[in-house]
Amino acid sequence: MTATLIDGRAMGMTIRAELRKDVQAFTQLRNVPPGLAIVRVGGDAASGVYSKAILRIADDIGVKARLEELPALTSPDELRSLLLHLNSDTQVNGIIVQMPLPAHLAQKMVADTLATEKDIDGISPRSAGNLFLGLPSFLPSTAAAVMEILERTQTPLAGKRVVILGRSNVVGKPLAMMLLQKNATVTVCHSRTPHLATFTREADVLIAAVGRAAMVTADMVRAGAVVIDVGINALPEGGITGDVDVPSVREVASAVTPTPGGVGPLTNVLLLKQCVEAAWQHIGGRVQNETVLHAQ
Ligand code: NAP
Repeated sequence: MTATLIDGRAMGMTIRAELRKDVQAFTQLRNVPPGLAIVRVGGDAASGVYSKAILRIADDIGVKARLEELPALTSPDELRSLLLHLNSDTQVNGIIVQMPLPAHLAQKMVADTLATEKDIDGISPRSAGNLFLGLPSFLPSTAAAVMEILERTQTPLAGKRVVILGRSNVVGKPLAMMLLQKNATVTVCHSRTPHLATFTREADVLIAAVGRAAMVTADMVRAGAVVIDVGINALPEGGITGDVDVPSVREVASAVTPTPGGVGPLTNVLLLKQCVEAAWQHIGGRVQNETVLHAQ
């Protein structure tokens, strides 16, 4: 079997076209587009590239985005007061704060300050709690991107065995909750899991989110499995690769995401999708993540 390569770039373009229409409808109704604020404190070159990528997508789909750049020496009170100001700004529907923050600024303060209804990357304890309870919530965008791929490729989940490698707060844990809501049987593996292959070989859907280049090899994959690679690993010669050894896994799996060109291009698109959802929700128009909610 040679697995289908799932084209994240093409999928991203399709979602962007859908969002463009949605944003147009919102803007016609309200005479003002959905608004996004990106907060960046200090920030290295990588975080600058990340902000620009989000701003480009926002511009492409018609969301009005603004970048709030603060100096590295910003005090906790100054950051908090900017977030409170953005929370109450009716032109802002979604807020993201670029991580990592300088060491003197606590991520917890940011997560606790962000208004839940504007927390479009699902970082706050309330967003995580809502997800845990199966209530409407914004989702960490990378986990949301994985779910979008599974949905758009019509990968069956109910009653299927899903194995996730990695248990981070932004990928593994939220994915486990979302997949449970889709009635999958979910196993989460991590660095202390012995005999990883005994778990991965049972998976109908295998999701790798570890950060170790090519750690998932063909002998770890069940015939016909769908393999989603979240990992991003820098190559010594430049460029990036994923956690999955795609050339060998392709011979066993039915579908696999490549890196680059798989999950990565969708993450920021899903962030914008949630910003547009927030805008509709703020005018009482729609409930977040209906697909997650109505999965049962
Ligand atoms: P993270 O916070 O470092 O978590 C990595 C997870 O992998 C941890 O749960 C860790 O276990 C587990 N792990 C480490 N070694 C392992 C091993 N040998 N076997 C099984 N599990 C192992 O990373 P993250 O933020 O979730 O990101 C994971 C990867 O996804 C990274 O490569 C990152 O660059 C990439 N990523 C991609 C996107 C995207 O847009 N595509 C977005 C975010 C992240 P312990 O908990 O036991 O330490």
